[in-house]
Amino acid sequence: MPFTYDDQNIFAKILRGEIPNSTVFENDHALAFHDINPGAKVHVLVIPKGPYVSLDHFAAQATAPEQVGFMAAVAEVCRISGVEEGFRAIANTRAHGVQDVPHFHMHIIGGAQLGRMLPGD
Ligand code: 5GP
Repeated sequence: MPFTYDDQNIFAKILRGEIPNSTVFENDHALAFHDINPGAKVHVLVIPKGPYVSLDHFAAQATAPEQVGFMAAVAEVCRISGVEEGFRAIANTRAHGVQDVPHFHMHIIGGAQLGRMLPGD
């Protein structure tokens, strides 16, 4: 499927330094920062630096170094965020997934006991 990236999205502006962020970790291919409206004690967003709109876009088209760099950032965020007891990684995607920001991001959520993910689980 075609993926169209809008470089005016808020995370693109964060990557360009036009909007401040509270950085947790950064490497050549990814940036991790605290969610502005945390849903849990730990709520970090990990984003690739490349122009990918969603997880499926990133998984299909990101280069191997970009994918490795992104996952290395996820690992580092988990290592330093105090989620030894567990966490949830979420990538909301497009309309059905209720994705608000059209730049691929992974939520790392934890720091305390979470509820079940979906009603009825
Ligand atoms: P989505 O619904 O797209 O999966 O999640 C977008 C997330 O980005 C939300 O949890 C929201 O709180 C967060 N967010 C939106 N704007 C900003 C911002 O300007 N800075 C930060 N740090 N987080 C933001």
